[in-house]
Amino acid sequence: MGSNEQRPVPPVTEIKAFRAGIVRWFARNQREYPWRKTRDPFKVLVAEIMLRRTKSEQVKPVYEAIVSQYPDCDRMAEAEDEKLGEILYPLGLRWRSPAFKHMARELKAAYECKVPETRAELTSLPGVGDYVAGAVLSTAYGKPEWIVDSNVVRVFKRYFGVPTSKEGRRDKHIIEMAKMYVSCHDPRKANLAILDFAALICTPKDPKHDSCPVKAGCKFVLAERRIDDPAARA
Ligand code: SF4
Repeated sequence: MGSNEQRPVPPVTEIKAFRAGIVRWFARNQREYPWRKTRDPFKVLVAEIMLRRTKSEQVKPVYEAIVSQYPDCDRMAEAEDEKLGEILYPLGLRWRSPAFKHMARELKAAYECKVPETRAELTSLPGVGDYVAGAVLSTAYGKPEWIVDSNVVRVFKRYFGVPTSKEGRRDKHIIEMAKMYVSCHDPRKANLAILDFAALICTPKDPKHDSCPVKAGCKFVLAERRIDDPAARA
């Protein structure tokens, strides 16, 4: 199938039940990161740009250094490339320091340093794609804005048993499901919950089915059981 092909999405009740299970689990198992302790949209934006390319644990110390040196758009827009590059070096992103500065300059020129509150405006900034925009809008502004990356695709594909294309994160039905998933009273929590669930339980290799809080409704596990137990296929 192609990524533009519209596939049916699961009923909203199934998506709500899945979300409820994940959010309950998240309350006891969430990961702590410094960028989760702030709602400052600029800091969240900087963290999310770094997180697109690197693991959270590696980003932690670099994030602390960046926000202490450049806590706002004004200061990042005036950053010295050499100095910014040195801070980004541990992430292998040294070469991207002009890109960070470019983003801050655009933010200053177009939005007077106020991080925009719409997806269209955010994605007009250099280096900001749909994922980063959705993450900033939901976690800093608490808006019901979807996020889709390979982790979200994997979880949806397994739990709901939906097919995906090679570029699942662009599939219309996956994006539609992510929109339904985040339509709730606490979009921030919902989006953070699925990210942590994907990282700790529904992992790419060896998913932890036994400790999974939503195992009972998971199509992947159900299909595996049918293969193991031919009687269950009847
Ligand atoms: S039961 Fe396994 S495959 Fe299904 S959602 Fe949980 S961890 Fe993922």
